[in-house]
Amino acid sequence: MNLDAMRAMLSAAGQPAYRAAQLYEWVFARGVANFSDMTNLPKTLREWLAENTRLATIDLVRVTGPDDGTRKALFRLADGKFIESVVMRDEGEGRTSLCISSQVGCAMACTFCLTGFGGYQRNLTPDEIIGQAIEARRQLLAADEPLAHVVFMGMGEPMHNLDNVIPALHLLIDAKGFGLSRRRVTGARALHQHRDRP
Ligand code: SF4
Repeated sequence: MNLDAMRAMLSAAGQPAYRAAQLYEWVFARGVANFSDMTNLPKTLREWLAENTRLATIDLVRVTGPDDGTRKALFRLADGKFIESVVMRDEGEGRTSLCISSQVGCAMACTFCLTGFGGYQRNLTPDEIIGQAIEARRQLLAADEPLAHVVFMGMGEPMHNLDNVIPALHLLIDAKGFGLSRRRVTGARALHQHRDRP
């Protein structure tokens, strides 16, 4: 849900308009894991949210690493499929980047890529895309490590899933939401082309 969708949902539930901005901040700017942590919302509203909505639509199965400065997160989707995202620590630059997936599988069939070898299965929805970033940031903040960049270089070709990638991008770069600078989000294709140059 973006802010407009939260406004509509809470308005239909008889809540004042400012509650939507509070909820939006808890979900995207602060990335809390539980409704009970949303301490400026009334208890009755937190209970209503817990009964009628979900905070996350992807389940973190495990995190592996660090391995050469990278940590991989494996997520299970609601339909039982799996995706990965990767946190990469560049010691030289002193910054941490997150590589997220945009599809389950991929139709591009790049010869060097295991995801491409497995073929395309389905597009990820905006919540499944932004959910990877929220979970990664939660873990990084717990380790006192800021998230510097997001790149769409995980599973899938984001240009093949623009209908879902673009809403996720709006959530990522919203200053009142996830708050990432738009200059710090990079599409996969440009990076692939850059990498493939001699
Ligand atoms: S576009 Fe990316 S995910 Fe898809 S096959 Fe090529 S390298 Fe793999």
